[in-house]
Amino acid sequence: MKIEKSEDEWKNKLTPNEYHVLREKGTESPFTGKFYENKSLGVYYCKGCNSKLFESDKKYDSRSGWPSFFDVEKDAVELKPDHSMGMNRIEVTCRHCGSHLGHLFDDGPKPTGKRYCINSISLDFKEKEH
Ligand code: FE
Repeated sequence: MKIEKSEDEWKNKLTPNEYHVLREKGTESPFTGKFYENKSLGVYYCKGCNSKLFESDKKYDSRSGWPSFFDVEKDAVELKPDHSMGMNRIEVTCRHCGSHLGHLFDDGPKPTGKRYCINSISLDFKEKEH
C-alpha cells in the first residue's frame, strides 16, 4: 500500500519541523530528539503514515545523537544513494509514504553490522503493554 498525499495535505498533517525532516529531507540536531535516549520496550512507527518500522529490541546506543537501530522491519523502508552535503550516504525512507527517516551506515553492532540512524521526529513510539 502506497500512501500519496499532496504537499498541502502533508503540511496540514505535520508540524513545520516534522515537514522539514520528513518531506524536505532535513535532519534534527543531534542529542535533541525525544527518542535518542528512549530505552522503553515497544514499537517505533512512521510519523508520516503510522506503519511499523523498528522494534525497541533492535535499538542500541550508537552515541551519534540520533536513535539508532541495527535492524528494521521487513519491507518497511527503501534505501537510496544520497550524495547531498558532499557525502556518500544511503538515505532511508518509509516504503509506504516516502517520508525521509534518516541514513544507513555500516558501523553498527552484530549481527547485522548496520546502523539505521533515524530522526526522532520521523518516528512515533508505542510502549509495549505489560
Ligand atoms: Fe511512512
